[in-house]
Parts: sequence; C-alpha cells; structure tokens
Amino acid sequence: MNENNPKLLTTDALVSFLKKASKAYRSGSPIIDDDTYDHGYLAELKKREPNHSFLHEVELEPSFGEVRLKHPMPMLSTEKSYSIEETQKWIERIKKEASKNNIDPNALSIIVTAKLDGLAAMRREDGLLASRGDGIHGNDITSVFDKGVVDAGKGISGIGELVMETDYFDKHIKQLGYAHPRNICVGVVNSDEVNKDFIQALKDKAVRFVPYTTLDRWEGSFNDLIDQHEKVQDQIIKNCVYPTDGVVAEITHTKMKTLLGATNHHNRWQIAIKKRSPTKQTRVTKITWQTGRTGRVTPVLEVEPIELSGAIVSRITAHNAGNVKALRLGAGAVVEAERSGEVIPKIVSVIQTTKRTTIINKCPSCQNDLFWDSDFLVCPNHDKCPAQVATSLGHFFKLHGQVDGFGPKSIEKMVSSEINTLKRIFAADEEVFQKAGFGETQSKNLRNELDRALNAEIEDWRFLAGFGVAQLGKGDSKRLLQNTILMDLFDLTEQEIGNIDGFASLSAKAIVEGLKQQKTTITHMLSLGFNLLETPLLSTMEKIDSPITGLRIVFSGKMTQGSRDDMKNNAEALGAKAQDAISSTTNLLVCGESVGNKKLEKAKKLSVNILNEKEYLSLIKS
Ligand SMILES: [Zn+2]
Repeated sequence: MNENNPKLLTTDALVSFLKKASKAYRSGSPIIDDDTYDHGYLAELKKREPNHSFLHEVELEPSFGEVRLKHPMPMLSTEKSYSIEETQKWIERIKKEASKNNIDPNALSIIVTAKLDGLAAMRREDGLLASRGDGIHGNDITSVFDKGVVDAGKGISGIGELVMETDYFDKHIKQLGYAHPRNICVGVVNSDEVNKDFIQALKDKAVRFVPYTTLDRWEGSFNDLIDQHEKVQDQIIKNCVYPTDGVVAEITHTKMKTLLGATNHHNRWQIAIKKRSPTKQTRVTKITWQTGRTGRVTPVLEVEPIELSGAIVSRITAHNAGNVKALRLGAGAVVEAERSGEVIPKIVSVIQTTKRTTIINKCPSCQNDLFWDSDFLVCPNHDKCPAQVATSLGHFFKLHGQVDGFGPKSIEKMVSSEINTLKRIFAADEEVFQKAGFGETQSKNLRNELDRALNAEIEDWRFLAGFGVAQLGKGDSKRLLQNTILMDLFDLTEQEIGNIDGFASLSAKAIVEGLKQQKTTITHMLSLGFNLLETPLLSTMEKIDSPITGLRIVFSGKMTQGSRDDMKNNAEALGAKAQDAISSTTNLLVCGESVGNKKLEKAKKLSVNILNEKEYLSLIKS
C-alpha cells in the first residue's frame, strides 16, 4: 500500500497520514500541497466516514515554548469552499437560520479578507501573544516582539498571523534555500537564538504579526459575493502583500454570529474560499523509461520546466506504456499537467500529440526483452536486472525510515560491485564499501548507519513491508501481523490469509508465494537481531477500546496525580504501549513537571504529540 494514493489506504492509515501532513504543514515543511490534502486525502476520509472524529477536531499545531495560555475564545479551523456551489450552500444555511429568527437575509452584510498563509496567533486583551496550539490552549510567544517581529496591529487585540512579506521573501530569503515564508516565522518563534539568516529580515521589519482586522476588505451582500465570486478572490489576493491561502468570507451581524455559533471544528458564520491548484501546459522533450522494483517499466515525460503549485517541474509521469501509445506521447507533444500528492506530476490532458511514438522493447537496465502485461511493459529478469535489484534494496531502507546514506545512487553503486542482496549489504564492513568505490568517511558512515538500522526501534510491519512481497505493502503487512506473529507467517495457508478481513483470495495466493520466495532472506535478516516492535494482536486488542489503544506513549517528568509507573501500567491496560524513550515510533509524550528542553525538542522534531498530565487524563476519560 502506498501513501501516495489515499484510496488505497486503510482508514487508520489515512487518518495518520492526514495528521502527519497537517503537522508537517504547521511546522513549516509541508509534505503535500493544500489542494491535495483537501481534495485527495481529506475528501477520501469524508466520503468513507463523514462522522470521523478527525474531521471534527481542530488540527494540532506544534507547541512553542513552555508557557501555555488558555485562549479567551477557541481559535478554530475554517470551513472551506472550492466552488461557487460550496459557497452557495454556506449561504443557504445562513439564510435558513436568519429566516427562522425573523432576520432579513438580504440585509446581511459580508466582508471578505485575505486568508494569510502564516502562523496563526492571537493578541490578547492583556497584551500577550498566543500561538494557536490545539485551538483551546496555545503557547505564550510574546517574546517574538523582543526578537524584532513587528506588530502591524500596534497593540490591538484579535486573531492574526505571523507572516513575512512575499516580496521580501522572494528577494532575500528564497535564495537561502527556504521553501516558504512560513518557515521563517516558525524559525523565529521556535528558537531562543534567532538563526543568522533571519536576523537581517527582523532588522528590516519584514516579519510581522498581522491581525485580520487590519487587512483590506471587500464588503457586499450574498448576491454580490456570488456574482463576483472569482473577482473578489483575485482582487483581494492581488492586493495582499503577504502570502495568502485563499480568502475568508464572514458575516458581520453580531446576533446572527451568535445564533449560528460554531462546531468543534469551525465557526459557522465564516468560510474560507480557495481555488484549486491550476494546471499548466508544457512541451515534451523526450521520454525516459525506468524499470521499477516489480519489473514494470514506466515512461517518464521529460518536459520544458514549468512552475506548478510552487514547485519547478521538469518530469511528468505517463503511468504506463499503454498510455504512451493511446495518447500518442513523445517528443514534441504538448500536455496539460497537474501536480498532486505524487512526487512526479501527472497529465490532465493532451493538447497536441506527437508525430511519432516510440515504445521500447528491451529493458533500459538489463537489455532483456520486455513483455506486455495489460497496459504495462514488464522486465521478467527479476533477480538479475540491476534496476529491479537496486530499487528493491532501496525499498527496504526507505521503509525502514531511520537510516541515511542508502539512497538510489549509493545502492546502484553497491549493486554494480556485487553488494546486491540485503544479506551482503548488512555483512559489508568499511573495507568492502571502500573496495566498491566509496570514500573512507562514507564507508565508515555506511557501516554506522547499518548498525543504527539494527538498533533503532522499528515496527515489525514496517520491517516486513520492506521486503517488497507482492500485495504486502505497509497497510497489509500491519493487518497480517495483527493476526499472526512474524515468525508464524510462513506457515499461513492461502485460505487462512483469505479469511482475514481485507484480503482477497487472489492476493492471498500472491502473498503465500511471495513469502515463500523471501523466506530465506527474511529469516536471515531476523537472525541479525533487528529491534522490532511487535504489532499487538487483534485477539488481545479487541477487548480493549480506549482513546489510547494502540498508541505508543512516553511519560516524562514528575506527575502530580499519581506515580509515573502507575500511569504506565494504566496506559498498558488501556491498550497503549509505554515506551522508555522518544523515538520516531512514539505517538504521544505526556509531560509532568520539569521536563527537559532536550526531550521536548526531540518530540517536536519527530512530530510527537505533546500533552500535559491534565490533558492526558482528560483524554483517557473521554
Ligand atoms: Zn531489466
């Protein structure tokens, strides 16, 4: 299973990906663009489980600093509209509520402002600046003003965002390698000592806290908003000097606002209006064929570079050879492309076909004859084809996720020197790597990383999925290990796998065969002593259903409501796993008093959720 396709994820995996993406976004380094988040992943969850709790929670933001503040009123997320129709639905709901209360809906006025794409914060009546946090509590980040952040509201209270002017970012900061102005705001808030790259920006007064009430606004009726839906957005965004993420429309009628109220997630009197990310046209210069892990040979269109939702794109996937034929793709063709969650953007439509389409018939890596499997070209030389061997090995390290240095280039180099199995890689010492052409330091690093791979705690399903058994991706590995422990997998029959929820008989057959083929390798790797975290078996978990079932939790600091050991035992009884140290597998850090900064930093870096003792206790009671 693949995180690139929300439809293929289990609901749990989907939610955990959404959480991860949301957290990455809020910490300043998004892993997917907004549009893909909303239309790909969030939409899939809404379709499957419209009542899922994730859809009704305010997404968590990393916490900054130690001092927590309760917001005078919750800082909620904003409901989104991507079309006139969605905006109309929002209006209809307000009109209905107005009529019920004898308020003339046509007399209601709406204001529209830019939706700033920065770091949300609230300037309070008492002068403190609080980050959004979980929407109820934030952190005291007033110190940003001492660091040089300008208060564009000159002390007025209200909700706003920490932002940097787009122009300033483009002229001075982009070249330093920062992807988005938000990263600078996060950096300034987050660190005690401001990064040297930002000091000049702060001196130049380029980082600001901008309350929403200070922004330019459009004002009109519901009809005006619908009539000028596009125009209002364009005008507001064009005139805003800060990075934007659409516009926000809201009604101004105080009584109506109170009547409409809010869900746990958003205010009903407010909506964010956004545009779908645009597509662009470009010309194909040539097709490059790539043999992947399973032997499928994928055509990649090399195109004249274009900018798509903030990234420069020069390669577009054509998915399979059948497409190249059917769409008549090749040098000179003009395609319309769109960037979605995939790393490589995809074709939306073909504007102009090529005069001559060429389909290869030999594997670009091993020169073996290719065969057709429906629309795909496949290289049958699975064991020897260097591209397949290298990508399979790379897959293991990619899924392991905690090792550096084993990227495609290094692995290709190893494979060409006969270090071409996991067994050989893990047996290699510095000398072997040096003979293969790696430098002294790099060889040493590679060996160290291998030892790290062995010692780092990893989930057993991640380890299993790394072997690339057909039909056994991350989700299915996990599902399988919820039913059988790793050592017993090789004894499973097709029928037994088929009986497990979520496995069809066809995939059961492939899994049994695949496991048989990989048995020697997997058993050997197990004998090396990886530090595997066992997936809890459903048979023991089914009896437990608590808000923390299945979570890995670290308790730290001095607890006030009881001993830490009691808390650990209690968590385990509720189906969680108490860990001693924070690692990338940790879901939650529960902080008592006086938790060290280092620990908090580590938790933040690994995107671990952080709760204090009280919050944790109310979570397990919920
Ligand atoms: Zn090949």
